Amino acid sequence: MKEVYSALEAWQYSIESEQRRKTVESYLPLILSAAGAFGVFPFIVLRYLQGEWVAAIVDTVIVVGFSGLGIYVYRTRKVRFASIAISLFCMTGVVTTIYVIGPQQVYWIYPGLMAVFYLLRPREALLLSLVTVGALSPQLISHADSQSTTTIYITMFVMSSFAYAFSLITSRQREQLMHLATKDPLTGAGNRRFFDTKLVELVNNKKRSAAPASLLLLDLDHFKKVNDDFGHTVGDRILKQVTEIINLRIRTTDKLYRIGGEEFVVVLEGQTIEQATHLAEQLRTLVEANELIPEQAVTISVGVAELQADELPIDWLHRADTALYEAKRAGRNRSNVAN
Ligand code: GH3
Ligand code: MG
Ligand code: MG
Repeated sequence: MKEVYSALEAWQYSIESEQRRKTVESYLPLILSAAGAFGVFPFIVLRYLQGEWVAAIVDTVIVVGFSGLGIYVYRTRKVRFASIAISLFCMTGVVTTIYVIGPQQVYWIYPGLMAVFYLLRPREALLLSLVTVGALSPQLISHADSQSTTTIYITMFVMSSFAYAFSLITSRQREQLMHLATKDPLTGAGNRRFFDTKLVELVNNKKRSAAPASLLLLDLDHFKKVNDDFGHTVGDRILKQVTEIINLRIRTTDKLYRIGGEEFVVVLEGQTIEQATHLAEQLRTLVEANELIPEQAVTISVGVAELQADELPIDWLHRADTALYEAKRAGRNRSNVAN
């Protein structure tokens, strides 16, 4: 099943750098918590001046809560957790205000609904909205006249429908964008751009943990000749078949990328050079055994390299490339481990 994301998550993933992404994705929860805090603040003053102590305390709690959540998201950049917390706090605040201060406070439900549909995934937002409306219904029905109550329900329904549709559309667009931005159109493997991001991520992880990571650099042997002899269409078919063969063999945690015309990389997180070499040999023999063109050998050569401590992404790839070059020089249809 496809995962469905919130409107916020939809654009956070279109930004590549981890640090920049975290900063940008925290803008919305930050703005919403700041708006909540500043929006309610004047009412604290008003309630105190009017001597409405209970209402003043409720508003104070709301302002302090929003400020706290804003500071939390600013400091930690834990956006998903903050989004859930802000949404729950928002709706609890709305319901409490309507009960404590009165049904005329129902106006707050509208920005509240909007915030929830921005921050949560469509279904989560829908569920929270329904629970909120359910919770405030007894108070609305018993205090407001029937015409006002009807208007409130209809406007809440219209608002939620728009917000839900918006949230769903953004979520679908995100999936399409992600596909376009990260996949190679011919084979469906990850593309070069996505691979570069992954490489940087693994190198950064290595600074924090001792877990190994290896990569296989694969290149089809004499592929120019295959194209020359059998045509580009057959060449393309072979590229797709090689992708299928590799995908069937590797684990779900291993990732395949097509980084050049007939060049692929398999990234093996948590795997040592021994495990990677074993897999390289399996893939090489599998491609050969599949006899993708009858009477004509279609083979691959593989360079294998494990990420070293303090190694740069470019150096890691370069070592795999040198190993691949050695495999080619030694006669092709073989795998070779980098120094
Ligand atoms: P080697 O064993 O040294 O790798 O020889 P090679 O012929 O595979 O290497 P070379 O880099 O000289 O040629 C790569 C060829 O791959 C050139 C081009 O015809 C072919 N190629 C690159 N991209 C595609 C593609 O998308 N489709 C097809 N059909 N062929 C491609
Ligand atoms: Mg080649
Ligand atoms: Mg090549």
